Amino acid sequence: MNIVTAEEMYDVDHYTMKEIGLDGKVLMENAGRAVSEKVKQVIRKEDRVTIVIGPGNNGGDGFVIARTFMEDGYRVQAVQLVPDKKIGGDASYHKQIFLNCGGDVFLLKENDEFDIILSQTDVLVDCILGIGVYGPLRSPIKEYVRKINEANVMIISVDIPSGLPSDEGLTDFESVQADYTFTIGAPKLSAFLQTTAIFYGKWETVSIGFPKKVLSQFSKRELWSEQLFKETMPKRNPFSYKGNHGRGLIVGGSLVMPGSITMTVQAALKAGAGLITAATVKENIPIITSNCPEAMSIPLSDVNGFLVNDTSISTSNYDAIAIGIGMGRKEGTTNLVRTIMQANCPLIIDADGLYHLKSSLSIVKKRQAPTIITPHAGEMAMLLDVSIKELLLSPFQYSLDFAREYGVYVVLKGKFTIITSPGGRQIVNTTGNQGLAKGGSGDVLTGIILAMVLQHDDLLQSLCNACYVHGKAADLQIEEKNTYYDLMATDVISGIPNVYRTLF
Ligand code: ADP
Ligand code: ADP
Ligand code: MG
Repeated sequence: MNIVTAEEMYDVDHYTMKEIGLDGKVLMENAGRAVSEKVKQVIRKEDRVTIVIGPGNNGGDGFVIARTFMEDGYRVQAVQLVPDKKIGGDASYHKQIFLNCGGDVFLLKENDEFDIILSQTDVLVDCILGIGVYGPLRSPIKEYVRKINEANVMIISVDIPSGLPSDEGLTDFESVQADYTFTIGAPKLSAFLQTTAIFYGKWETVSIGFPKKVLSQFSKRELWSEQLFKETMPKRNPFSYKGNHGRGLIVGGSLVMPGSITMTVQAALKAGAGLITAATVKENIPIITSNCPEAMSIPLSDVNGFLVNDTSISTSNYDAIAIGIGMGRKEGTTNLVRTIMQANCPLIIDADGLYHLKSSLSIVKKRQAPTIITPHAGEMAMLLDVSIKELLLSPFQYSLDFAREYGVYVVLKGKFTIITSPGGRQIVNTTGNQGLAKGGSGDVLTGIILAMVLQHDDLLQSLCNACYVHGKAADLQIEEKNTYYDLMATDVISGIPNVYRTLF
């Protein structure tokens, strides 16, 4: 499923009407009907339903919903918040059809009438403003929206909660706080931003007839899904041998952080890597091998328990490398990272490796083989020299700019992990939960990413599937445990097979 900005949605709309030839009135009919079906699934037959209608196409959808509910015998009323002269185009066409069918439109004139309406409403369907909103809400709609949010009603928004921007980067808005939102044709960017996602409540997308090829022509963003995981996860060949599933190297750890690299190694093997070698300070090696006897190891030079440059390591023996986990931020370690960056195979840089990367960005530009960085918001903000707040307002744009400038894949981790290719494609992964907000979760992800890079031909797919598996393993563990508190990073590793089982 594609994810769109407001501008892209208008492009899809226009192309579908002008070039494909599907009439706007038909699209509006489809939208109203599709949303009505979804609304019926979350309300009771006896509920008093109020459709609140604004000036644009979003309001037009509202007239179709009002007609559908009336025909199906629901207790429904349509309330128009703006004067008739503001209802035009396809919306006015559908208003007329509603009237022709015997529907009534209540034209709201005074603020206090709205209080009475709200007190007689169980379910409010918000068709006030859609993606056409610009700037902060203006009166009187602003006051209506405040009253709606204060009322004791279930709020269902059509396409987008009224007042909420579709795009990233905007702070100055006031919005309906929906319980449910049924997005039309495609989810909008703001459904995946920390600052705006909450306003959607639970959301689902309804399809109204935009052709898939038109959506993917105008949007380079996509949502990853179980179906895509099943379609793209390589099956294991019965005649394969360990070499077919890749030789991976993990460079990291320090005397004070033996656990993180241990978990990365375990996760990589559990996720299906053929052979994994850990290169770390010598004291960590017995810890890794006692927890994971399947791993091989290489002791690297260190000073006071922190890795330093060591050219004895031959990177040419590996199909992919992950670096950074638990290695600390000592100055002496930067040159080791630079040495490993010379490797001619895919390189995943995580955690403290990202800190060392910051002073080595000119080297990353010159790498021939793919580079993947896996920052959380704090690490990404550090790389970009912006505040975390600023980054979280526009994570799609910042990721895109960075990926393009340095020619790297960016896995920006969070509740919604955004995966960006150097070519500018962006995928959002939505598996995972707040149980993962605990030290070690990211180390496990790095191991899974390494394993997936080793097993896939397509790099972008490998990153999407890694994030999918990581989050889904956590989700399935929560289903079993019924609590978010005690999820351990090692539980996520043990949960990986539960995800693979869904493949069969
Ligand atoms: P469209 O008709 O373009 O699909 P909408 O259904 O979202 O989009 O309606 C957009 C209309 O809403 C605009 O033409 C304008 O009249 C009104 N509008 C836009 N922004 C605001 C705002 N901030 N406050 C109040 N009304 C607005
Ligand atoms: P660490 O370095 O401590 O192991 P990171 O911050 O690098 O942790 O990685 C945390 C991982 O957990 C990321 O994959 C992130 O997407 C996931 N995660 C963290 N918090 C949440 C959350 N609230 N919801 C979903 N996933 C989360
Ligand atoms: Mg981390």
